Amino acid sequence: MKIAVLPGDGIGTEIVAEALKVLKVLDLPLELESADVGGMAYDKHGHPLPEATLKLAREADAILFGAVGDWKYDKLERQFRPEQAILGLRKSLGLFANFRPAICYEQLTDASSLKPELVSGLDILIIRELTGDIYFGQPRGRRIAPDGNFPGAEEAFDTMRYSRPEIERIAHVAFQAARKRGKRVTSVDKANVLETFQLWKDVVTEVGQQYPDIKLDHMYVDNAAMQLVKAPKAFDVIVTGNMFGDILSDAAAMLTGSIGMLPSASLNASNQGLYEPSHGSAPDIAGKGVANPLATILSAAMMLRFSLNQPQAADRIESAVSAVLSQGLRTADIFSAGSTKVGTRQMGDAVVAAITKKTTKS
Ligand code: NAD
Repeated sequence: MKIAVLPGDGIGTEIVAEALKVLKVLDLPLELESADVGGMAYDKHGHPLPEATLKLAREADAILFGAVGDWKYDKLERQFRPEQAILGLRKSLGLFANFRPAICYEQLTDASSLKPELVSGLDILIIRELTGDIYFGQPRGRRIAPDGNFPGAEEAFDTMRYSRPEIERIAHVAFQAARKRGKRVTSVDKANVLETFQLWKDVVTEVGQQYPDIKLDHMYVDNAAMQLVKAPKAFDVIVTGNMFGDILSDAAAMLTGSIGMLPSASLNASNQGLYEPSHGSAPDIAGKGVANPLATILSAAMMLRFSLNQPQAADRIESAVSAVLSQGLRTADIFSAGSTKVGTRQMGDAVVAAITKKTTKS
């Protein structure tokens, strides 16, 4: 089982180091190979996604990704910005289906920004289409003022676009995922205003007819944002486009206590996947040893389950994370009175200890 390890920038290196520690104690035949990505790759090789990194990613069974980006690269031409690495990997590997589970651990209900009764038992799955929509639609660009004197652009534009096959395949992913859960899918769109999302709604409805056991409803994105903070437990699986999914999944992150808890998986048609925390490189806390590594550790668990067919190993990681939270250990982002504040490394060590303790017992 070959894993490409791409830690990237900011807290990426710190949190991926903890996930690797956890993977190593599982005693699985994993071949781990690291490569440069993001801003640090631009600094070293002149490109955020060097050819060697892309080759490693293509040949691997799965990719464990940290995060990319730093404000110091904001002035670079877009193609050289760190974030282009993740877009490039998604596009090159055809990673069209992004799974973002938002699960509120019982031990963290008081860390959520909502009242505990609204999030207690929360377990929803956001499925975001990842390789289409306004992030990839052409044409896009900026128009410079004709006299050339204006310092920046005068006008800018992006194209929102989806094709029928793109919508069909993500809809199938959502219905099949719902079959293994609560058997409900909410398709989120903006069909009242956007042609692209009228097509989205029509196609999801058609695909839904092949899944009579799944209850499908449709919701406009503005209402979905409101319902997510009003009654999040009413959802089971949410399926939506690239941009709406980007925004809604970050909002859902806060329901779980912190974005530092949210793992994600991005899969292609052959189940090859890129696994990463839902958050970014957090330059504000990078290098301080305080970042929460649990989203990355839980992403490694998703990797074992979805791409490497090791569901038992994934279970072991997930129960170890739960055990550590029950011990009252908290990084700063999920800290509350009465718990014990730990840093990134201590949190990783505690997960490793919980796994090895269980192994010794059994
Ligand atoms: P961010 O997710 O990096 O940080 C948002 C806030 O959450 C910050 O206050 C940060 O300290 C906190 N946070 C994030 N992860 C945390 C963790 N594990 N533990 C504790 N606190 C955590 O988003 P941002 O600040 O908007 O973006 C920073 C950089 O990351 C930008 O360059 C952005 O483009 C990039 N980014 C990259 C990815 C990716 O690599 N997939 C995703 C989102 C943003």
